[in-house]
Amino acid sequence: MSRIGFIGLGIMGRHMLRNLRQAGHQLVVYDIVSAAVDAVVGDGVERGVSCKDVASRAEIVIAMLPDGPEVEQAILGVDGILEGAHHGLTVVDMSSISPLVSRKIAAACATKGVGFLDAPVSGGEPKAIDGTLAIMVGGDSALFEKVSPILEKMGSSVVLTGGVGAGNVTKLANQMIVACNIAAMSEALVLAKQCGVDSEVVFNAIKGGLAGSTVLNAKAPMVIARNFKPGFRIRLHQKDLRNALSTAESHKVALPLTSLVQQMLMALMNRGSGDLDHSAIYTFIEEMAPKS
Ligand code: NAD
Repeated sequence: MSRIGFIGLGIMGRHMLRNLRQAGHQLVVYDIVSAAVDAVVGDGVERGVSCKDVASRAEIVIAMLPDGPEVEQAILGVDGILEGAHHGLTVVDMSSISPLVSRKIAAACATKGVGFLDAPVSGGEPKAIDGTLAIMVGGDSALFEKVSPILEKMGSSVVLTGGVGAGNVTKLANQMIVACNIAAMSEALVLAKQCGVDSEVVFNAIKGGLAGSTVLNAKAPMVIARNFKPGFRIRLHQKDLRNALSTAESHKVALPLTSLVQQMLMALMNRGSGDLDHSAIYTFIEEMAPKS
């Protein structure tokens, strides 16, 4: 069993670390919010006082943080992982961030003899609890083989998608498809409603056809029930699409649909809906329709 460092004990991280502990691993953990650390220490889970401290006491360090700036701070910053790192340490960043940032961090790690994988996840809190996340990994294949048994304690699908950054490219692809799908579904359901056709009837009629999808099955019932409790928060999806757009910019790729939906998500955040489920994109489309 390995001694694993875990940094970032939020909605996802606290459950992922519980699955590692249940598999018998010893853990040393850190979060900038000390109450988050208090909630998980004990029974094989030790408190770390900084990212540097965690790195000095572990063979593998996993990070599950909001976005690139926090990951850079935790790994490259003052009292960060690299300050406490020993030769042969492996860092696995499971946050959803820009692949450009993953590559920059991997290069900095390499100068200290530290291995790096990006390994973002899909599935949300329920799958983090069950240990059935889909994990998309980028990096060296030998390093992947080494950490796969650990990742398999948190996910039911663990796939090496390419070199460093490929995990986050794959995650961005996932997020673009989901966001555009929800926006298209929203326009369709608003039009049906304005035409006097019941949304539930439309959903049931089309879900078995080509328009049917996992997104439609998960999100149309939420829209019909007007239940926008997250789920996956608008502010996180806005961040993912922003990362898709900055990555696209650096490769001179045009993403017209993604930019439109990213702007919708930004507008929803600005009106105070950032903590609603991303299915609340529907409310943005609905507001543009005549009030009847
Ligand atoms: P969260 O905001 O709930 O948790 C992040 C944690 O990181 C917080 O506890 C915060 O205090 C801590 N933190 C922030 N900066 C830190 C630093 N510099 N050092 C140490 N700790 C720090 O976020 P989450 O929902 O757990 O998501 C984490 C990542 O997983 C995000 O990139 C998100 O996009 C991705 N993700 C989330 C979901 C979901 O449904 N929540 C699903 C798939 C992927």
